[in-house]
Amino acid sequence: METEERVEMTASEREVMRVVWTLGNATSKDIVDVLEMKRDWKPATAKTFIGRLVKKGILLAEPEGNKYIYSAAISEEDSVKTEADRFFEQICHKQAGRTIADMLAGATLSHQDVELLQAVLDDKKKQAVEEVACNCVPGQCSCSTPR
Ligand SMILES: [Zn+2]
Repeated sequence: METEERVEMTASEREVMRVVWTLGNATSKDIVDVLEMKRDWKPATAKTFIGRLVKKGILLAEPEGNKYIYSAAISEEDSVKTEADRFFEQICHKQAGRTIADMLAGATLSHQDVELLQAVLDDKKKQAVEEVACNCVPGQCSCSTPR
């Protein structure tokens, strides 16, 4: 449970991590150079987010001379998966199918992506249930409380 809390990051922190994931190893200057352009951040702003990420254990800091070399403690793929899982835990399980369909409809996909999705769907078809159970607390969704 604590580990899950630790990897939670804000949109600004994710901007920092995307630079680190791309470079592998990065100095604060590398991070500032990218985000100064994209987000108009001052070096102090970037350093604040870097500090928070280190504190959360998402970013590793290795001293080298008078600076630090930063690297990621978690992969981008794992982070995206965790974020998506967290989102689906926050909505009624009955809404998952509809939500995924909407996400699919809005996404630009390659032929390879479509094939991957089709394989997953074929599998899901075999395991499909009659009705998805609601996971909500009464009062937080209309399917668990009689109208
Ligand atoms: Zn529900």
